[in-house]
Parts: sequence; structure tokens; C-alpha cells
Amino acid sequence: MTEHYDVVIVGTGAGGGTLAHTLASSGKRILLLERGDFLSREMDSWDPRPVFVDGKYISPDMWYDADGQQFQPQVHYFVGGATKLYGAALYRLRPGDFREIQHADGVSPAWPLSYDDFEPWYTKAEWLYQVHGAHGEDPTEGHWSKQYPWPAVSHEPRVQQISDALAGGGYHPFHAPCGILLDEASRPASTCIRCAWCDGYPCLVHAKSDAETIAVRPILDLPNVTLLVNSEVERLDTDPSGRAVTGVVVSRGGREEVYSGDIVVVCAGAANSAKILLRSASDAHPSGLANGSDQVGRNYMYHNSKAVVALGKESNDTVFQKTLGLNDFYFAGDGRQWPLGNIQLLGKSNAMAMKGEEPKLTLLAPRWSLAETARHAVDFWLTTEDVPKPGNRVTVDRDGRVHLAYAATNDAEATGLYHELRKILNHIGMADHHVLDKNFYMSMDVPVAGVAHQAGTCRFGADPANSVLDVNCKAHELDNLYVVDASFFPSIGAVNPALTVMANAIRVGEHLLTRMA
Ligand SMILES: Cc1cc2nc3c(=O)[nH]c(=O)nc-3n(C[C@H](O)[C@H](O)[C@H](O)COP(=O)(O)OP(=O)(O)OC[C@H]3O[C@@H](n4cnc5c(N)ncnc54)[C@H](O)[C@@H]3O)c2cc1C
Repeated sequence: MTEHYDVVIVGTGAGGGTLAHTLASSGKRILLLERGDFLSREMDSWDPRPVFVDGKYISPDMWYDADGQQFQPQVHYFVGGATKLYGAALYRLRPGDFREIQHADGVSPAWPLSYDDFEPWYTKAEWLYQVHGAHGEDPTEGHWSKQYPWPAVSHEPRVQQISDALAGGGYHPFHAPCGILLDEASRPASTCIRCAWCDGYPCLVHAKSDAETIAVRPILDLPNVTLLVNSEVERLDTDPSGRAVTGVVVSRGGREEVYSGDIVVVCAGAANSAKILLRSASDAHPSGLANGSDQVGRNYMYHNSKAVVALGKESNDTVFQKTLGLNDFYFAGDGRQWPLGNIQLLGKSNAMAMKGEEPKLTLLAPRWSLAETARHAVDFWLTTEDVPKPGNRVTVDRDGRVHLAYAATNDAEATGLYHELRKILNHIGMADHHVLDKNFYMSMDVPVAGVAHQAGTCRFGADPANSVLDVNCKAHELDNLYVVDASFFPSIGAVNPALTVMANAIRVGEHLLTRMA
């Protein structure tokens, strides 16, 4: 006999965790199925060697690229999903991102909802995830109905210098939105100790606003919520008509178990949600569940990003560096033919992380020289929008292995953004005062395995012919199947995606509460 719930949620990350939190107080019986386990609180979490060199928290999964070459994707299977490792830069998309935008390599399509439709859920997500920021500083942002719950995280002196120099040069730097549990006015009340181990590291003291800490843990004591870890959903079975999911088939402790729910919500992340649907092919859904339109797995996006390390003569003693953002080049205009994207500061680099991220480039560099390099480094993250292409796609072979065919888009825009950054660096004095003979930039493009910002694969829309989900993120072809994670994005914009995933999970959660009432 299968155990029956009101709602079964697959995955506990930004989408699934936030959805569960939204539904929990209704008293409805909720089952959370999570492939991974709780991430242990251990000193390794704050040690760049296990994190960056050994890749301790990256899943051993192997995927295949378009040429059939195996690679290890940077995916993280834990309660909290990718948010356990994320940088917690919690941005809203810009209003323009919800409309059609022409890019160098194609069109970023309009969403079926506008920014104004989304705004109330962005506000709820910012308050749930305790975001620090200052609405009103960034000229590209949309309207907000409520200020952030916490003031912006203050800049440390070197970052303040950079911000002042940019503002003096006519740019519009702003305080980046950060999801951390920090109270700068009354520090003893903080959990966050404002350390350097935030971006890319699990938080040992649970002071990062990740989905485990904020959304999942607080509901685990409720009698109507059940979480099963180490439980990988293999496929979904339907009734003979194909209209309803009747069984959620799980591999747990080497055994197959089956659960059922009035409503089943897949929140396994863009690639894995597509994998589950594609592996659930049946007579009623021969190309995969909800895939009559052949859209499941297509339009995979992940941003055209660059990590750039700029070295100045001055040492940079910043500890918590990710407090500054710049959107002056986000849209086309002012002489720019194309939108270029977002620039933000990253977590501070260190010698060991540089070795882990660039083993070949740094192979022969002595440790002291890397340490010296890191001491003078200012670390930037550049994000250019990646447009959806049907051929950029997740498929699954007969053995259940994931294949990810992907060709980057908008390289010309990404290069344009990089050149704008170089101009800025000259402008803020990093060209005249350098460690080396000339300004030295270490720049790293993110390879196909860097799937951190994966999105698309089950986009939502009004037309079942070119979307998988309807406007409420319910599969067009089924009555009780929803997908609520980064899969639903029709386009990805050029800011970090997690807040939009969270806001959407609250939106769909409220829809489900109405439906179940
Ligand atoms: C290193 C890193 C840094 C990042 N920094 C930022 C940032 O600063 N700002 C930002 O906005 N975004 C950031 N991101 C991206 C952000 O974390 C993701 O956009 C977001 O977590 C996506 O939410 P999701 O619900 O789609 O997937 P996830 O949060 O990954 O959740 C998916 C969940 O499903 C589980 N799962 C997968 N398959 C199965 C299965 N078959 N059965 C059961 N469970 C399954 C996974 O274990 C996971 O818990 C970062 C990501 C990484 C990796």
C-alpha cells in the first residue's frame, strides 16, 4: 500500500523548501522527499581545501556533454539544495526582464506575468529570507511595496573606496542585496560573524539565509510535515488516462518505495526536474511526462558569467566583500547596442581557492605568491543574460544518465561587459597602482560543469504548444502535477536567480492553498 499525502514535494532547495514553508501552516499533510542528507556542520565547511580543491560538497554525479564527454556537474544534493553553497545575493529581476528583450544572439522572451504581478511575492521572499539591502539605490530596479527587512550590509573600507570612486565617476553603485542573519546595530544578536566563508561555502553557524535554515528546519516539528532524506525520486507514475500522477517512485536505502499525493510538486532543480519527467515516459506520455509539446528539457539557461580578479597595488583587507553591485550596463542604450548585464563583487578570494578553481593556471605558482596575489585581489562576478535556445537541452539516455547539450549565447555581450569592467578599473585607480608592471586581470569563464545558475527546461506560459507549465506552474497536460524550481523561467535575466525561485514558490504555494481549500 502506498502512503498518501495531501502534497508530495520532491526536493528541498530554493523552490521546494520555500514551497513547503508556505504550505506548512495550513495543516495539510506534506511529504518532502530529498535525494541528499543534511549537510553536516563541520570545520571542513570553512576550509578552502576541501571546499574548492577537493570539491567535497559536489555530488559525484556524472553527466555527458553534446560530444558524449563525461563531466562532473557542480550540483549539491543536500537539504536546502544549491542554497547550502550559494552566495545568497538575492536580487529581483528588473521589470524589463519580464518583457521581450532583443539580444545579440536572439530574443529573451516575455514572461506571462509582469514585474508588477510578481512584486508582492518578491517582497514576501525578501522578508522570509531576511534580505539586507537598500531599495531605491539602483536606478534599474522596479517599484517595491516594502523596504528590505534589514538595512544594507555596510561596505568595508576598500569596498567603500571603490563605491565612492564609481559614484564620483558618474556610475550608480548600490549595496548588493544579501541574505544573511546579521544585525550590525546589535551585533551580539547576530548569528552571522561576517566571515569570509559565505560565497561557495556552507555556513557552519547557520547564519546564511539558505533554504534549509530559513524554510525547512523551522517546519520540521509540525506534525503534518514529514521529511525523508536520502530518498531519490526515480519517476512518476500516472493513471491510465495520463491526467493524474498516482505514484511517486523513490529509491531509498536500496529499496523502491512508492508514495502518492493529491498534488505532486517536482522541485529537483532545472536539470533533475527535467530528468524525472523524461524518465516517467509511459503509454499516455510516450516522450516523457507533460512533454506532448517536446519542450521538457529544452531552453536550458545558466548565464554567461565570468569571475574576474583584479589586482591593485593597495592590499585589500576586506573580509565580507560581496556588498556592492552595479547595473549601469544592464540594458542597451547610452551607445550600447545590446544589454550587457550585471557586475557585482564576489566573496574574497584566497590562495587555496585560486588553486582549486584554476589548477592548471596556478600549478607552478608558489603558495606565497598566490597568497600575495589574493591579498591584493578585488573579485568581481560578471553576469550576462543567456538566451533560451531549444537546442540547449537536457536529455536522458536509456540508462537514466543526464546529457546536457549546451552552447553559450551572447559571448559578444559578455566580452562587452568585461571591457566595461576594465574601463571602470582604470577609472577607480587600479591601473595606475598595480602590483605587476601592468594591470593584471585573471579572468575565468564558467565551463559547462558550472551549473550553479541552471534554469529553464520546463518553462511556464499560456500556450501549451511552446511551454510545459501553465501560469500557476501546473503541467498543462496533467491535473495534479506542478514544477516549482528554476525550471519555470522562460528567460533568466542577468541577475542571480534564487530570489525569483523563492518568490515564485510562495506565489504557487498561495495558489495551492486556495486550490486545496
Ligand atoms: C556555489 C553556488 C553559488 C550560488 N550563488 C547564488 C547567489 O549568490 N544568488 C542566487 O540567487 N543564486 C545563487 N546560486 C544559484 C541558486 O542556488 C539556485 O538558483 C537555486 O538554489 C535554484 O533553486 P532550485 O529549487 O531550482 O534548485 P535547488 O535549490 O538546487 O534544489 C533542488 C533540490 O532537489 C533535490 N533533488 C534533486 N534531484 C532529486 C531527486 N531525484 N529526488 C529528490 N530530490 C532531488 C536536490 O538535492 C536539491 O535539494 C548559487 C548556486 C551555487 C551552486
